[in-house]
This record gives sequence, C-alpha cells and structure tokens, in this order.
Amino acid sequence: MGKIHVLPERVANQIAAGEVVERPASVVKELLENSLDAGSTRIRINVEAGGKKLIQITDNGCGMVRDDAMLAFERHATSKIKDTDDLLRIATLGFRGEALPSIASVARLHLETRAEEEAAGTVIEINGGKMIRVDEAGLPLGTSITIRDLFFNIPARKKFLRSESTELSHIASLVTHYALAHPEKHFELHSSTNALLVAPPVDGHRERVYQVFGKETLDQLIPLAAVQPLERVGLPQPPPWRREPDDELEKREPGEMRLHGFVSKPEIQKLNRNSIYIFVNGRLIRDRLIQHALTEAYRNILPPTVYPVVLLFIEMPSAEVDVNVHPSKTEVRFRQQTVVHDFVRDAVREALMKARPVPQFLSEIKAQPTATPGLTSGVLLSAGAQQAPGRNSYDPNLYDPTQPTGGEPIGANGEKDGRSGGATGFALRAPVIPPVTARLEFDGGIAIEANAAVSLARHPEARAPEIAVPDHAVPDHGCAPPIEAAAQSAPTLESLRTLKALGQIRNSFILAVNEDGLWIIDQHVAHERVLFERILRQRAAQKVESQHMLMPLLIELTPAQQAVFSEIATELAHNGFEAEPFGSRSIAVKVAPAGVDAAQVEHMLNEVLEQLTREDQALNLEAVRTRIAASIACHAAIKVNMPLEQNKMEWLLAELSCVTR
Ligand code: ADP
Ligand code: MG
Repeated sequence: MGKIHVLPERVANQIAAGEVVERPASVVKELLENSLDAGSTRIRINVEAGGKKLIQITDNGCGMVRDDAMLAFERHATSKIKDTDDLLRIATLGFRGEALPSIASVARLHLETRAEEEAAGTVIEINGGKMIRVDEAGLPLGTSITIRDLFFNIPARKKFLRSESTELSHIASLVTHYALAHPEKHFELHSSTNALLVAPPVDGHRERVYQVFGKETLDQLIPLAAVQPLERVGLPQPPPWRREPDDELEKREPGEMRLHGFVSKPEIQKLNRNSIYIFVNGRLIRDRLIQHALTEAYRNILPPTVYPVVLLFIEMPSAEVDVNVHPSKTEVRFRQQTVVHDFVRDAVREALMKARPVPQFLSEIKAQPTATPGLTSGVLLSAGAQQAPGRNSYDPNLYDPTQPTGGEPIGANGEKDGRSGGATGFALRAPVIPPVTARLEFDGGIAIEANAAVSLARHPEARAPEIAVPDHAVPDHGCAPPIEAAAQSAPTLESLRTLKALGQIRNSFILAVNEDGLWIIDQHVAHERVLFERILRQRAAQKVESQHMLMPLLIELTPAQQAVFSEIATELAHNGFEAEPFGSRSIAVKVAPAGVDAAQVEHMLNEVLEQLTREDQALNLEAVRTRIAASIACHAAIKVNMPLEQNKMEWLLAELSCVTR
C-alpha cells in the first residue's frame, strides 16, 4: 500500500506556495530534508561544479514503493500531511509535496528507490518535467536521487547562478548545519574527488561541533540548556462543528519548551550572522525574533555591529510553531512570541553570566591590543564629536579593561541593569562620547572609518562626516571594514607633509601640528593605510615579501571555507602565502607575508575566507586581491597601545603623506 496521496485542493490552497528551486543549494536542502523525513541514518551527497552539473544524494531511509515513486512527482503529492488540521502540527521537515515536481521540471532527474515492502526497486527518469523511463531494478533499501544540468531548460535562470565556489560554499554550509543538528546520523559531502565533510555518528552535539569545526571552535563556546513549561494559551483548535467533547487537543498538556546548544564567549566577534544557527524542532530557520533575543542577551557584552557564534536547538510541541508561513520553510511563526523571545534571551544571558568570561576577555584585549576598547578610551579627544551613525547604542568603553572591576553595573543608557548583576567582572561605566571620526578611502571600495588624521582647526565640516557603517561589517580587531557608500570629501593628505609630531596620546594616537591646526592620528589606521598601498604595489610588481614559518601552521577550515580556499589559493600564493591542503579539513601554512605575526596568520586567513564565503557575487579577482591586501595590512600594522618613539612617529607621518590619494 502506498503512503503518498495528492492533497485535496482545499488543503493545497492553504499551503504557503512558491518557488523552491532557486539555486543548487535549495535543491540540496529539499532533498536532504526528504532523506531526513524518510528516517535515514546515513546520507551521502556528491556534487560537481558547485551542484550546477550534478547533485546526487543517497540515503538509507524508508524508500518508496513503485506507485509512490511515481506519485511523488505530482504537485501536492505528499505522505506527510492529509488534512488542514495537520498543518497546525507539522512534525516533518517537508509537507508541501512540491519539491520533487519542481526540481524535476528544471533538470534531468534520475531516481532509484526501494521500500522494504517490495523486493524490487524502482528507477524513474524525468527530463525537464517529462517522465521518460520507469523500470524495475534490484536496488538496496533507500533512495538515491541524481539531478543533472540544473536549469538546462531555463537558460535565463542558469545564467544567474553564481560561481561554482560560491554555490558550493552555500551547499557546504547547508549540509554542515544539518549535520550539526543530527549528530546521531552519518553525513558525507563530496565535491568531485574532494571530501568536504565526512561526519560519522557521534554521541552528541558537543562531539559533532568538534568533528565539524574542530577543537578551537569548541573551546570558544559555552554550552547551555534550559527548559520552560508552556502555559496553555488558546491552543489551535478545529472549528467548533468538528470538535469532539473530549477532543485530543483539549486534553493535551501544553507541554514545555526546551533549548540547548552553544553560544560563543564575548571575545569571539563575527562580521555577520553567518555563524548563528537556529534550529526549531530540527528545522534550520532564520528568525528575527530569535535574532533579537540573542542581541538582547549579548547587549553590553558585544557591540551591536558584530555577532556571536550561536548554535541553538529549540524544541517545542509542533502546535506551538507554524512552519507554513514561507515557501522555503526557513521562517516560522511562534504562537507565543514573547514567551519564546524571553526564554531564549534569558537562557543565553544566564549561560554567558555563568561562564564568567571576563578574565579571558580582559587577557584577550591585552594580548591583542588592536581590540576596539583601547581605541576609544581617549576621552580627551571628544571635543565637539558626534557618534558615527549606527553605533550610538554601544560604547566599547563600557568594558574598559583599565578600570577596576566590580561596582554597580550600569547599562548603556545609564540604567541599572539587573541582569548583569551576577557578573562581577563586567565593569560597566557610563558611556563617554567617542572621538571624532573621519574616513580614509582605500582603493577598490575599501575605506578606513577611523579617528585618523582629522584637522580639528580648519575643517570643522570634516568633524563628523556621514559615514554609512554597514551593519555587518565591523571586524573584530579594529581593521577597516569594507564600505559601499560613496566617499565623502575628507581633508587631503597633501597637508600631512608639513606635520610635526608633538607626542603620543595613550600610546595609540599621534598628536601633531601644522599650519592647518592640531591633528590627532590613529597610529594603527595610519600604518594600515600605508601598508595597504605598499602591498598592492608589491603584488602588482610580483614582489611580495614573505617569511617562512618556523613550523607549518595547521588551520582547520569549515567545509564552506574549504570551497573558497581552493578558489583563491593561487591569489594567496601571489600574496606571500604558501599553504596547501593537509588532511581532509585543514591546510598547512608554511610561508606567510612578511610582518604578520605567526599568531595572527590564522586569524587573518580565517577573516579573508569568512568574508569571501558568503560573497554573493562571483569572486572577482580584483576584490579578492584588495581584500587580502587590506587584511595583511591590518594585521601587520603597528597596534594601538604601543609606545612610539619620536623618530617612528615622524617616519609614519612622512609615509602617510606619501600615499597616493
Ligand atoms: P514533501 O516532502 O513536502 O512531502 P516532496 O515533493 O519533497 O514533498 O516529496 C514528495 C514525497 O515523496 C514525500 O512526501 C515522501 O513521501 C516521498 N519522498 C521524497 N523523497 C524521499 C526519500 N528520500 N525517501 C523516501 N521517500 C521520499
Ligand atoms: Mg520534501
């Protein structure tokens, strides 16, 4: 007896309909979800050319009997729901019955499947929606679906696919997420001959994080777990005329909400939300409510423009969450939004407080003096300053490591923050106004938004230029973020020629004077700018300076980073890196650009790969080159909190006045 049926129109009409096939990763997502719904414990995915040429997924799930296999390609044919009521409590990842027909209509599909009930398996071939073959064959239990030549019959769509490595990195991060959610299952992802992920079953999420991301990531994470009983607040019910007096829904306990997973320590700061993974009942979702709860939990711990690493698994009765709100099923609606929001916020906050991250946080800042807090502690620079837009709710000074800890924690707006009370180490102080900001433009759309070289005397208009600070792009070490906005008129570098260095403020800023007035120059940003230009020049002349590492440095990469690494390896080599694959998920760096400390090399490479991983455009060589140069410059530049002798300051000012623009 088959399990699949075509949904009646009345049910089909209530399903959030829409496109499911947008790119190779969306095909992988639908097929992977089908394999998980089929109860598979072993899933292997092969792709070629970033999934454009081939996607093959083989599972050991329940398989399909012949009739079901044929029916599965009808629109709205599903084994997962039957009636509208079922839409209120969906326990499977799929339910729309639309993925297989949609995929089959835009590619060449080959299906092999066998269910336990049948001795022989079924082979089906469909080309652009036309079934061209149905056969019997001896097959193992489970299902294997091969998708070739995606969008072969829709050239316009095909043209819009991104580069192979971009598509592959999307696929890799998707498979990684699902592997993280199901540590008890075996996942494999191969691209041509390259094994991007091989994750045999392990005991729990902790082991899976270790397996997929390595020890270093695991060490940066704080585990958390919390439970909260749910109140019965108007559970969804069938209409009154269909309600039985002792309806199952009436009697059902409201249940509880559980949460477990990992959040990163405050010193881990990511440029974007790519490292936040939220699963609700095993489904990977993007949800603003939960994102907001996380922001709240990290309030006063992280600046609002950087993001933590989060891996959260939230479980609740399926009636509590509506997954039928968006065609791609990546958005959900919680019935009790505030309860979920506060539960997540409080659980995460509590875990952060318990872990008392402050001692490490402080030592991290001391060890890496480019960390932002040191930068803005110069209260004396604040004359007439305004804050850069987008940053006004956070002040790194709240975490001034030089201040004694303890005392009454105060929130950014001066209110006492009861939540922070448990952490004696978080020394919160009332905010101070940050220094004047201006921007030095880098070639290639990269700019420095910083306290660099602003003449206060003659250029009052340059005091607080309108800087568009992209909310995803503030790096974690005081380096220049990429800026998309057009350049504002800034004071010219010409006038730097006549500068005389007067001294250094807080070991971080050079105080200088010329006929234009008094200048305050951020030594890190200034040197970074000088180096950036020099590196680009050396790269153009193929004369990049590099240094041999004493010992090869092993760096673990995520599957998505591996995909990008293979694409930019040659450019990295031209920039003074000698790195080659080492084992299945590491690279060994033997040579690195001159001037970058061994300790910084890993951070730097991670930063470059991370930034390019989710780049939605095909990687353009110019952008890659600029990004690498900017990163080397940042990591090789003089740090803040570093005393400079007079001749060093003079040298730096002279160099700065020579930069081309
Ligand atoms: P949905 O997942 O929303 O039900 P799909 O079009 O993705 O819709 O799949 C249609 C049906 O085909 C599923 O309901 C399921 O019964 C069956 N099916 C799809 N993939 C598999 C698989 N890998 N193993 C077993 N059955 C599958
Ligand atoms: Mg499905």
